[in-house]
Amino acid sequence: MILFEFICEDCKKEFEELVKFGDDKVKCPYCGSFNVKKLLSAVNVKGVEQGPVASANSCSSVGGFS
Ligand SMILES: [Zn+2]
Repeated sequence: MILFEFICEDCKKEFEELVKFGDDKVKCPYCGSFNVKKLLSAVNVKGVEQGPVASANSCSSVGGFS
């Protein structure tokens, strides 16, 4: 299994999920939506910085910004 990063199209939260090969059914752990998009793992993807993403609850975030 590989750890992928996803972003939820509904609540715009990013999360990581262990995904089996060929398994694309990933559910957002925050809102339960299946409308998620896979991000490139361990890479800062350009073009997804839309709006001020509220990260008030993610105190333990490792932080992808530099
Ligand atoms: Zn969501």
